[in-house]
Amino acid sequence: MTDAPTSVSCRRSSELFDRAERAIPGGVNSPVRAFGAVGGTPRFMTAGQGCRLTDADGNRYVDLVCSWGPMILGHAHPAVLDAVRSAAGGGLSFGAPTEGEIELAEEIIARVEPVDQVRLVNSGTEATMSAIRLARGITGRPAIVKFAGCYHGHVDALLAEAGSGVATFGLPTSPGVTGAQAADTIVLPYNDLDAVAAVFAERGPEIACVITEAAAGNMGVVPPAEGFNAGLRALTHAHGALLVMDEVMTGFRAARAGWYGCEGVAGDLYTFGKVMAGGLPAAAFGGPAELMKHLAPAGPVYQAGTLSGNPLAVAAGLATLRAATDEVYATLDANAERLGGLITAALAAEGVPHRVQYAGNLLSVFFAEEPVTDFASARAAQTWRFAPFFQSLLEQGVYGPPSAFETWFVSSALDDDAFETVQRALPAAARAAAGARVPA
Ligand code: PLP
Repeated sequence: MTDAPTSVSCRRSSELFDRAERAIPGGVNSPVRAFGAVGGTPRFMTAGQGCRLTDADGNRYVDLVCSWGPMILGHAHPAVLDAVRSAAGGGLSFGAPTEGEIELAEEIIARVEPVDQVRLVNSGTEATMSAIRLARGITGRPAIVKFAGCYHGHVDALLAEAGSGVATFGLPTSPGVTGAQAADTIVLPYNDLDAVAAVFAERGPEIACVITEAAAGNMGVVPPAEGFNAGLRALTHAHGALLVMDEVMTGFRAARAGWYGCEGVAGDLYTFGKVMAGGLPAAAFGGPAELMKHLAPAGPVYQAGTLSGNPLAVAAGLATLRAATDEVYATLDANAERLGGLITAALAAEGVPHRVQYAGNLLSVFFAEEPVTDFASARAAQTWRFAPFFQSLLEQGVYGPPSAFETWFVSSALDDDAFETVQRALPAAARAAAGARVPA
């Protein structure tokens, strides 16, 4: 089988989507999967192997989404499958502690120096929600600062001006979030330390924490400006607040130690997800023992979960992290650079204004003349060029993220054939982007 030919059939996916729309709101279990921003039929996947996905019509795609980050080793990696099979053979869930949970916690702690302890949860959303509660519990303060365009999961208080699907669908926040839930959230422009300093000068004693994506990837990739994260650390500490580094996306992907490994600026609390669970549902939050001791049952801040530390998720995460060697990280970096180089060459050949932006091996494509530094500049890009670009790639067997506001994720499993497929597909996709017109 080859990657999808130029004219793919998606009849079966289309039938499945019709059926899904009757049983599941919008036909999907997470909004961006519905292809709302790019149009066309969401592909229903039946299998993933290495760097390729197969859909319900038998089309094959080079996967540049990687389940939104977790699959750094590619799909169905033998060591991960073995670990999950072996864990499943011993029982699926006990609601009691297991040794695997300690091993996964120890692996995370060994990689991220500022973290002494972690608590395992089930999703990145739970991790950020719990970290915020802990920060409020420790400081006794109500307010939190977040940045426009950063996404920290669908926590009520964190949906204001969020990136990812909230940005894709153009929502300022969400109905169902009450004024009270949002009242203690202060939203500031990303990469703007002056704005952070001003808000601390005015409301410092109320602020429990600043939460930031260690490097932003949910408005497309917007790396922190030189000194931004260090400045956040200095300002939070000067005012008795905590810095929560959200590494759900960057953790164990951008480097062995996540974005912390790239930049070396320590947060107080950390959130992790995606890669640390190898494609199964688990996530974590952590920090120094001095802060984590406030968490129940050691301390008074409550947090719990029936399936937290699930043996299968722990096994998948541990096997993934153990297989993610320095060589894997070097391959991820090389693959990101190779992909970005191909995209740039194709778009430049068609004279399409664009910037490929990187945060380590996370990358995305903005149709913009100038570097994108915050949510306002991300939204000002020519996002209307994205849908035809995406659709052309998809038709030619390249599965990119179906939104201009998302990261493109590489795996270490990308091979020369996959890059050849991408390279062959890009000229037509670049022509489609060049030919796009501003919507009336
Ligand atoms: N934080 C960041 C930076 C994320 O990118 C995401 C999801 O993409 C989350 C939190 C939420 O994670 P989850 O989707 O597992 O709830």
